[in-house]
Amino acid sequence: MNSIPVVEIESSTELKTKTTQTTCPYCGVGCGVTAHVTPTTSGPKVTVEGDANHPSNFGKLCIKGSNLADTLGLETRLLHIQCYAIKTSVNLLIGILQLQRLPIIPAIH
Ligand code: SF4
Repeated sequence: MNSIPVVEIESSTELKTKTTQTTCPYCGVGCGVTAHVTPTTSGPKVTVEGDANHPSNFGKLCIKGSNLADTLGLETRLLHIQCYAIKTSVNLLIGILQLQRLPIIPAIH
């Protein structure tokens, strides 16, 4: 009896979902959130759910937390240090502040 050969094809273009444990930024409760980010051809698709193991919320989220994926984004978030709207490093920023601020401290005190 002939059987149909089965060939397993490994897809190198498979879009993998990245899961991150984080906290809700909206209030001081600090509920645990599990965020799933899946790359798609039209941009990343983000979904969130309550972290079942987090002691603040045990998997539950209020209306604000459950809508995090729709209300937060990276478009307007500061993702790196800037000085006068120019991306910089911590050391350079400290140097700039020292040059600007140190001379006026004796004048204040
Ligand atoms: S999910 Fe609701 S209660 Fe929890 S931290 Fe966010 S805003 Fe606060």
